[in-house]
Amino acid sequence: MDCIFCKIIDGEVPAVKVLDEELVIAFMDINPSSKGHMLVVPKNHAENIFEIPESDLAATVKAVKRCAKAAKEALNAEGITILQLNGKASDQIVPHLHIHIIPRWKNDGLSMSNWEMKQGDMEKIKNIARKVKEHLS
Ligand code: AMP
Ligand code: ZN
Repeated sequence: MDCIFCKIIDGEVPAVKVLDEELVIAFMDINPSSKGHMLVVPKNHAENIFEIPESDLAATVKAVKRCAKAAKEALNAEGITILQLNGKASDQIVPHLHIHIIPRWKNDGLSMSNWEMKQGDMEKIKNIARKVKEHLS
């Protein structure tokens, strides 16, 4: 399969690895948005949150916690942004699920929560919540 992250997992493409477990690897992002930006990636190919089996996801999230803690300690980060995108509409570029760990510092100029904070219409919010709840099994 022509997947860049599968190639990294198979050792066909080099990467700066920080963690290599049975089900998960983590490596440094080659276009870091902050010092220490890394990606935590399940070894079994799954395109997104909808496709990944829960066991692989659980292992991935556990590794995220370990890597986030290690990055925070190693770099004296003041915060960590954790980001995971699904689908082109959400800006996902690489179609192999990955979780970004982005170390953060006060006034680092990055912003990933810069949507306008405007009070929503509570009736509309409740209606949307009702629709979502109908789809929860
Ligand atoms: P996205 O799919 O939008 O969550 O982002 C994909 C991320 O993968 C970007 O931050 C890229 O810089 C990163 N990336 C793409 N190719 C490589 C690679 N060969 N090694 C490390 N990081 C990569
Ligand atoms: Zn893949």
